Amino acid sequence: MSHDLRVGEIQGKYMTEHEIWQHLNNFYYRSSVATSYKYVFFKALLENLYNVEDELTLSYDQIFYSFTNIYWNLIFHHQLAQSPNKNKPARAQTILQKYVNDYSVPSEWQFDQLEDSLQIKIVHDVKRDCKQNVIGAFYGDTAGVFYAFDIKRAQFRFNRPVYEFMKKYQRVLMNLTNYHLVKYLEKVNEATSTMALLSKIEVISKRSSLETFYKVLTQFEQNRCFYCHCDLSSSRRKTHVDHFIPWSFVQNDNLWNLVLACNDCNLQKSDKIATHFYLETMLIRNDYLSSNINEPFYFRTYQNTKLIDLYDYSIMNGYTTLWEPKKVLKKKV
Ligand SMILES: [Zn+2]
Repeated sequence: MSHDLRVGEIQGKYMTEHEIWQHLNNFYYRSSVATSYKYVFFKALLENLYNVEDELTLSYDQIFYSFTNIYWNLIFHHQLAQSPNKNKPARAQTILQKYVNDYSVPSEWQFDQLEDSLQIKIVHDVKRDCKQNVIGAFYGDTAGVFYAFDIKRAQFRFNRPVYEFMKKYQRVLMNLTNYHLVKYLEKVNEATSTMALLSKIEVISKRSSLETFYKVLTQFEQNRCFYCHCDLSSSRRKTHVDHFIPWSFVQNDNLWNLVLACNDCNLQKSDKIATHFYLETMLIRNDYLSSNINEPFYFRTYQNTKLIDLYDYSIMNGYTTLWEPKKVLKKKV
């Protein structure tokens, strides 16, 4: 059984897109699904495409942070069962439930509302108990073409052609995965409607607040809007933390993709990307931020080429309306 695998080598280093689609369709339409694990895991991979290191490796901590975050929000925030038998919950659910009970966490809370130290503890437990099952099972369903892994050494590495494929079709893959997850959840949960479920799943990883990032950014950006340079110091309420590349595409909150924006710019920009001029500005901003910030964690896997890549791929994925503010104030030197 593939979920018992502890090591997996990459099968097929020279995959064509046609072949990758075939494997993916097998996963979506033919593999057996006993719990929602596989869909949640694939969503976690899509959310972490831009967190890879040079050799396309991804840390288990990154993968299982996303996995736990999605899983927690499904089970507690939205009260959705994740397996057909209520008396036989998935292993990850049992782990999470224990924490909810031990710490008396209010049921409507999202995962990011827990204290950082508690989040780390929970992710650690889920990772320890689920890594073998989850990583091995998906590997088996996709005939080993997606990645190599080694459970004991906690290694995970994307197959390059598959990685490029996932970036190219990121949006469509996310939508497909959401759709299949919804279909599965509909089956194991009573009284749910597809549309209501889908709108929950599409934002399942979204944080309840970006306050932590606001605090970091205000230390460095002199409280000015990144886009129009207006002064933001007078009103916290009107200051937004904006995803430079829209959240709906990246589904991640890397500091290197976040800026401070005024109310007007944030509203007008909405789900669009900014013009190329702002990409250049953003690269300069990130150079400055990465060399001045005290927590190297935020820029651990960042490179300028990553942001450029993300910008280009967001356009390829349909974010074709470029936005810029109507009025820009002169920046004080
Ligand atoms: Zn502005």
